[in-house]
Parts: sequence; C-alpha cells; structure tokens
Amino acid sequence: MSTPRAGTAPAWSNWGRSALVHPAERVSPTTTDQVVAIVRRAAEQRRRVKAVGAGHSFTGIAVATDILIEPDGLAGVLAVDGNLVTLGAGTRLWQLPDLLAPLGLAMQNLGDIDRQTIAGAISTGTHGTGARFGGISTQVRGLVLVTGDGTVLRVSASENADLLPAVALGLGALGVITEVTIECVPAFVLGAIERPEPFDAVVDAFEHRAASVDHFEFLWFPHTRTVLTKNNTRLPADSPRAPLGPVRRWFDDRVMSNRVFGLTCVVGAVAPRLVPGINRLATRLTGNREFTDVSTSVFTTQRSVRFRELEYSIPLEQVPDALRALRSLIDSRGWRISFPVEVRAAAHDDLWLSTATGRASGYIAVHRYFREEPTEYFRAADALFREFEGRPHWGKIHFQDAESLSMVYPRFGEFVQLRDRLDPERLFANEYLDTVLGR
Ligand SMILES: Cc1cc2nc3c(=O)[nH]c(=O)nc-3n(C[C@H](O)[C@H](O)[C@H](O)COP(=O)(O)OP(=O)(O)OC[C@H]3O[C@@H](n4cnc5c(N)ncnc54)[C@H](O)[C@@H]3O)c2cc1C
Repeated sequence: MSTPRAGTAPAWSNWGRSALVHPAERVSPTTTDQVVAIVRRAAEQRRRVKAVGAGHSFTGIAVATDILIEPDGLAGVLAVDGNLVTLGAGTRLWQLPDLLAPLGLAMQNLGDIDRQTIAGAISTGTHGTGARFGGISTQVRGLVLVTGDGTVLRVSASENADLLPAVALGLGALGVITEVTIECVPAFVLGAIERPEPFDAVVDAFEHRAASVDHFEFLWFPHTRTVLTKNNTRLPADSPRAPLGPVRRWFDDRVMSNRVFGLTCVVGAVAPRLVPGINRLATRLTGNREFTDVSTSVFTTQRSVRFRELEYSIPLEQVPDALRALRSLIDSRGWRISFPVEVRAAAHDDLWLSTATGRASGYIAVHRYFREEPTEYFRAADALFREFEGRPHWGKIHFQDAESLSMVYPRFGEFVQLRDRLDPERLFANEYLDTVLGR
C-alpha cells in the first residue's frame, strides 16, 4: 500500500485498493490553457502535480500526493478527420461506442474492461488480445501534452513526429496529456466462440491458435486441466448479429462471472482447500457459448469482484514453457488460487516503453482476490517471468526497478533522456516513477 499523506483534499484510492492517498489539492481543468496554468503554478511553487485517470492501475503509478488533476473536465470528441478522432484525455472508454457509432467508427482493439480513461489506458500500455493487433497506444496518431515548464507540446505526423513512439506510452512521466488523436477503424461486429478445452492441447498450440483467429485468448483456472478459450472473429458491420439475450448476458456476466464468482472467492479465502473443487466446477459451468455482437460489447465485460493483478509480456513462442513452469510453481508451493490465469497475444510494435516493443508478445496475467495477500504468489511469478525476458505491465503489480527494466527495453535510456528534457524538475514524479525510471 502506498503511504497515505495528510493533505486537505478528499482521499483518492485505486480500484484494486492497493493505493490510497490524501492529496493536498484536487483540480478539475476543462481546457489545455487551464492545465498550463496549473502546471506553471506547480513549477513556481516547486510542487508536484499529476493527472489521474480512472484509478484502474494496480500499481501506484497514478498516485498524486500534492496536486491531483481530475480527468472528467477534459472529455469528449474534439475533432474528427476521416478515421482520426481527437478525444479529450479524460474520455472514458465506455463513452466511446456512443461517441464513435454516429461516425461509423470503432476502436480497433480493446482490453477486458472499458472503465479507463483514454489517457490512462495509453499511458500504461493497456492492451487486449490479437496476434495481428497492438495495444491501444499503437492506435495513437497524435497528442497534446503540457510539459514540466508549462509548454504545450503538440505531437503528430506533422509536428514532433519523432516523439510519438515515446509520448504515446509515457507512464504519465512526460507531462499532462490533454488531447489524444486515435486512428479508429470502420465499425465492425465480432463473432465469439467460447469453449472449455484441454490445457495441454491449447497451450501446446498457443502460437498457432493465436495466429488462426483475430482475437484469441484463454483463461486457466489453476488446479484444473481445462482452459476456457475465447475465439473472436472480425466481421463486417452489416453481418447478421446474434447477441446474447439480456437474461443470458445478465446471468453469465453479472451472476456467474461476478456474484457467484465473488462468492466462491470469499469461500476460497476462508477455506482454501475447497478452491480446486470450486475451480473445476467453474470450468464446467462457464465459458461455453457462441454469439455475435458489436465489437465493444464482445471485447469488454464488467468486473465487480475486486482483485489484484500482475501481468508480464514474454516472447510469444515462449508462452507454453512459461505456463508449464507457472503450473509447476503453483503445484509445488501448495497455494490455492481461486482466480484464473489469463493468456493473450499482441503484435510487435515500435513504442519505446511498450511491453510488445520489437517482438510478437504473449501476455500471462495472474490474479488474486483483493482480500487475499498476493505478495508471495506475485513475487514468485514475477521472478519466473523474468527468466523469459519478461516485461511487466506498467499498470499492474511487479517488483522491477529502473536498473532491471533498462535491460529489457532497448530504448529505455532514450526515454529517460526525454523525461530529463520534458520534466527536468520532476513535477510529474511519484514513488512508482522514481522506482521504475529513477529519480
Ligand atoms: C478490472 C481491471 C481490468 C483491466 N483489464 C486490462 C486489460 O484487459 N488490459 C490491460 O492492458 N490492462 C488492463 N487493466 C489495467 C488498466 O487498463 C491500466 O492500468 C490503465 O492504465 C488504467 O487506466 P486509468 O484511466 O484508470 O488510469 P490510471 O490508473 O488512473 O492512471 C494510469 C497512468 O496514466 C496517467 N495519466 C492518466 N491521465 C493522464 C493525463 N491526462 N496525462 C498524463 N498522464 C495521465 C496517470 O498519471 C498514471 O501514470 C485492467 C485494470 C482493472 C482494474
């Protein structure tokens, strides 16, 4: 837990309840000019300032002890130029379907949920799955950023283009983003097939499975030999749709995936010996359905059972070995893990601090119910994934520092130099950034 500090403004905590802070001041700017004034005042008074998103990072990356900039005043569509849509930085991903549908557009890919802000999502490298698709930051074509001395830095194909691969995934360390231009795609629907399948067969064929469907992922409940696969295929917008009925959707997503699952987590926390049986039951009762719906309704789901998460990207071809090693680790330590392990894929990209920079990537995420102590499990998983040249998700728990991270990011040094240039006084720093980037 990040150390709370006694400020006068209302407290802020993240979704995973792993960070709590009492900032000195909370401000809600509505324009870039107002952000400039806030940053200049902070610089003059030698104070720190930080923009937060929706607080959905599990790390302390968004912790703002001094001046906290709220996201909500900077939201909505600001401009449209063909497929390029400029959004206020605080726009929530759940607002996008309604904003983009009248334009006939959609986000190319999304992660599991839509509660994040666009600036928060890109700042930590939020990703979904799909061997041919990158994370959300790869869809960024422009940004407006207020840097450490209050300068407005515009980055796009025609202005400061060389900085785009750094600022599109900047950890909140380079400035306050006020606008983000995203390249959208024509609206589409997704055909979803979800099935329980044998662990060994799916894990052995992971690369092939990821290559043979647009968006492939699976969940593995530890202590079982079954995985629940999700196979999503992109279809034209006018394809016939067969969405889940409201009752089925409510039952699957609200009742089974959240209420019943939440109850099993509570039971698992007080009686861990029951977890293997509960997990086996879960793989029998869920994850067997087919439907076709608009892309956002298929990509994202609701998560009301609180958890903590660690996720690593590793080279795609190493996923089977890493998963088997993880399974052996869990078995050998005798832990009882009620939350599933999630396995996804992404295309390589060229963003300096992207977990997929320079290599086709597999993602393995481990979770723990928020009332259970995650540290022993997460530390061991962290050590294991590092053996596979792992790169941790910036918004999820990990145990790395600037020294170890500089070994797995070829352009780490350039990013730090850019930070020195854009934020020499470390206005935007916090404890997390001090750890992962240095002071
Ligand atoms: C239930 C759940 C499910 C998730 N699923 C996924 C998933 O499927 N895939 C995935 O990759 N991740 C996932 N995540 C992680 C999540 O997407 C990231 O942590 C994301 O950064 C959260 O966005 P946010 O808006 O909450 O940002 P915050 O966590 O509030 O902030 C993240 C960073 O963005 C910075 N930031 C925010 N706004 C600005 C701004 N205007 N200017 C500059 N910096 C800014 C903050 O300072 C901080 O550094 C999940 C998290 C949860 C809790």
